Order: sequence, then structure tokens, then C-alpha cells
Amino acid sequence: MQDTKRTGSSQVLITRILVAVLWPVWLISPILAQAQSGSGATVDPAVIEDLVAANRILADQGVLDGFGHVSIRHPANPAHLLMSRSLAPALTTAADILEYGPDCNAVDDRGRASFLERFIHCEVYKARPDVKCVVHTHSPGVVPFAASTVPLRPMYHVAGFLAAGVPVFEIRKAAGMTNMLIANAALGKALAETLGDKPVVLMRGHGNVVVGPSVQTAVFRAVYTEINARLQTQALALGGAVTYLEPEEGAKADIIQQQVVMRPWELWKAKAMAGK
Ligand SMILES: [Zn+2]
Repeated sequence: MQDTKRTGSSQVLITRILVAVLWPVWLISPILAQAQSGSGATVDPAVIEDLVAANRILADQGVLDGFGHVSIRHPANPAHLLMSRSLAPALTTAADILEYGPDCNAVDDRGRASFLERFIHCEVYKARPDVKCVVHTHSPGVVPFAASTVPLRPMYHVAGFLAAGVPVFEIRKAAGMTNMLIANAALGKALAETLGDKPVVLMRGHGNVVVGPSVQTAVFRAVYTEINARLQTQALALGGAVTYLEPEEGAKADIIQQQVVMRPWELWKAKAMAGK
């Protein structure tokens, strides 16, 4: 009996020692696996759900149609990003999300096509460590401002982020005559340089790129860039002088808007995901 007890307690002791020695290895084994493969880090399903919601919200709000895309910086691997395969944004599901490495190729494309303009996303993340989400749109109300000498400026407080200034990317300066698509790293880099430290850059003859420190803020900005553009067109059509937000007003308003960004996000998400 005593021997059995002793054997039993020895086994418990050995087990405890093994657990104490090995648990840190177990804890970091997923990280080691990621480091070895350079990718494939597990992503919280809630993060993927928000990325899917972002695609559907922007389609629902008329900012994206059959074209355009949204990406997020990979939460566990900042040099990588997550984005849908080539697909109309309104149709995106969690199964369509692919991971891209710094070379802007899918880590595992599972036989699926990628967006031609994915270089927009890859190069913006490289240039802007503060950016966690990138949206590329052909936002219809914005396109006239990308083609005009009239700058896009903030009409009201919810678009205060535009007060930082909205540069326009002229693709001819970077590459002469093109098909207008940002389909390689050099063009993506040139576009990211024009964006600079701003939240929005317009693309002449094409659309825009909107960025933010979260998926919610980037979606908010993409929606209100479109609405602001339409309001500004209406104000200009009135014919009188238009008074825009001052840079200081815009900066102050943007701080508040970022604090309440979840309110429209929850509304837009509920509408866009209803019945999905
Ligand atoms: Zn495009």
C-alpha cells in the first residue's frame, strides 16, 4: 500500500515538474509555428467578422459597388494583411478572406484570384504604421473632386477628418499613360507617398483611398467622404460663397467622432448583415 502511495505521489510530482517545465513551450508553440511558416497566425473570428461586415456595410451604403476593397492589418503579424479574394464586396463571407505577405502575394490563395489593385493596401501599410484598415473605393460623389481643381473640404463636423487636407494622386506623374489601375508595388508606393500622413487621398480618374486606426474608423471615413462630397457639390451649386470647417475645428471634431464611431458602425452592421 505504502509503495503504491509512494509511486502515486512520485508520479504526481513528476507530472507537476513536467507541466512546470513544459507549459511555457506549449504557450508559445503557436508563435513558434508562425515564426517558422512566416504566416498563418490564427485570427479571432470576431476580427474576420468585422472585416466581412466592413465589405458589406460599404456596399450597403453605396460607397462600394461591384468594385473596391477593404483590408485590415493582420492583428498578430503586422507585416501581413487580411483581405477578401477578388469578389464583389457585398458577397464577402469569412471563407473568402485571404492573408497577404509583404510581397503582396497570398500566403495560401487556395486557388482563388486576388484583387489586381491589392498593392494599394500593401504599400499603404508599409508607409503608415498607424494604419490598421485601408479602403479603396470608386465612391461616385468623390470622383468629380478627383478630376477637378476644386479641393474636397469638410462641410460639417462628421467629416472633420477632411480638414487635414485631401491630396489628389495624379497617376501620369508616376507612370505616364496607364490603364489607371494600381496594379504593381511601384504605383502603390507612389500613391502611398501622395497620401502622406492624411486620412484620404483622391485618385484622378479613378476614386479614393481612405485609411484609419481601426476598421470602424476607416469605414466611417469612407462613408462620410462620400456624403461630404455630395453635400459640397450641392453647396457649390447654390452659387454663393461656401464656408468650410477650419483645420482646427476639423481636428477637434475628428477626436469626438472617433470616440462615437461604434454608434453608426453598429447600425450599419445590423442593416448590412440582416438576413445574411
Ligand atoms: Zn480601383
